[in-house]
Amino acid sequence: MANSSDTPTDPLLDALRAELPDQIVSTDPEDLHSRAADLGPADHLTPQLPAAVVRPQTVAEVRTAVRLARTHGRSVVTRGAGTGLAGGANAVHGCLVLEMTGMDRIIRVSAEDSTATVEPGVIVADLDAAAAEHGLMYAPDPASWTISTIGGNIATNAGGLRCAKYGVTRDSVLSLDVVLADGSLISTRSATFKNVAGYDLTSLIVGSEGTLGIVVGATVRLRHRSLAVETIGAFFPDLSTAASGVVEMSRAGVQPAITELLDSATMRALDEARGSDLARRGEALLLVQTDGHGASVEAELVREALRGLGAEVTESGSEEADRLVELRRHARGDGLPDEIRVGEDIAVPRSQLVACIEQMHDIAVAHGVELKVVAHAGDGNLHPTFSVRTSGDEPFEQVSARLDAALDDSVRTALRLGGTITGEHGVGGYKLRWLDWEQSPEVIELQRRIKDAFDPTHLLNPARGVL
Ligand SMILES: Cc1cc2nc3c(=O)[nH]c(=O)nc-3n(C[C@H](O)[C@H](O)[C@H](O)COP(=O)(O)OP(=O)(O)OC[C@H]3O[C@@H](n4cnc5c(N)ncnc54)[C@H](O)[C@@H]3O)c2cc1C
Repeated sequence: MANSSDTPTDPLLDALRAELPDQIVSTDPEDLHSRAADLGPADHLTPQLPAAVVRPQTVAEVRTAVRLARTHGRSVVTRGAGTGLAGGANAVHGCLVLEMTGMDRIIRVSAEDSTATVEPGVIVADLDAAAAEHGLMYAPDPASWTISTIGGNIATNAGGLRCAKYGVTRDSVLSLDVVLADGSLISTRSATFKNVAGYDLTSLIVGSEGTLGIVVGATVRLRHRSLAVETIGAFFPDLSTAASGVVEMSRAGVQPAITELLDSATMRALDEARGSDLARRGEALLLVQTDGHGASVEAELVREALRGLGAEVTESGSEEADRLVELRRHARGDGLPDEIRVGEDIAVPRSQLVACIEQMHDIAVAHGVELKVVAHAGDGNLHPTFSVRTSGDEPFEQVSARLDAALDDSVRTALRLGGTITGEHGVGGYKLRWLDWEQSPEVIELQRRIKDAFDPTHLLNPARGVL
């Protein structure tokens, strides 16, 4: 879809101002620049500016904005909090950015049904806190849950720490209200736990990265909040043994709620940024949380299994272990000011985790770059970050090429081990270059036809998510 630039006579802007409240349509240059990109690697895409940022407060306003964009032949890019890491919410030139953060009401929490109905701009941790008032929880908890929206989490099918036990976002979404590219409003299904009437459009739209429709409402499933929780920090002499702890816990018959893995470089970065002393304790940290009535029994089994692998394990009731979970939530964001880094989001079958980590190290050595690894290990989802400390001696382009080559190799490795190019962050615009490494031509074609069926003129998030 062609987009023209924002000019004082832009007819789209005139139409938006005529039909929408003034305060929700912004062409302030600061807004246009700050809403042009998400938190993904910006240097791979030339930043493009929207014509306007629209901040709807109601479904009717979303529909009006979509209708006007369509009439004027302009794209619509939906945006939550912009914490995405794949360029999914990046603007295209002259588009409308629909920023959904103003639609942030928790409409209903039903303790009887264990469900909540929300608008898309609700911050995920706020939903969990509202559920907690009823003894319930909203399980998916990405490390960004205090800053990302439920709409963004739905659009990316976000994972999180507790997903090892409770599943990813898709496993908690029952029904969606969606504005389609033609401006119509659909509700995907009833909000029952079971429903097999027709194709499962709810699951299709979850993870579709804003390319099929704009989520304007959601009913999600809540779970009972466990009163008993045990957290275990296990420090290991090496990363591979720590990773093997994941399979060992499974052999012991335990399904932890959280299983996170941090390597020594990540611990050092956390120590530097937050004053902890993790790196002194071992070369790798496996952070495990058990919950439910059997939490302490399971925790004992975990301790036994991990001690058997040579880990130094925190004792029951350790406050330090609880603090470690909070530290982990910051593990991805901490980098050093003088480093150039690229990070990814591959996932492999759990049985391949150790092999994958070992091969990441080989890749780093081969390309002469540093490696940090954080993993949602229970899901086999790794975030390897390759970096180079800038000395100024090597031109930026050269450093960047080395880092990209390492990244490409890491993605190839994941695929060779039976995994995926992206476990939870989505394809966005950034990972389109790897999509046909994973998907066959037949699958790519079928995905294209699904996009065409929902959005024949590619109005919504064009050139994102699918090839
Ligand atoms: C420090 C940090 C930690 C992170 N940890 C995790 C993690 O543990 N797990 C994980 O999965 N991700 C993680 N992320 C990535 C990011 O937070 C998630 O992808 C999140 O789901 C994005 O939500 P958002 O509200 O910021 O959406 P945005 O970034 O604004 O948008 C993301 C995508 O969703 C689309 N979208 C947004 N709202 C809607 C809507 N209402 N309707 C249709 N499409 C929409 C956008 O077009 C875009 O394609 C992390 C990011 C950071 C910065």
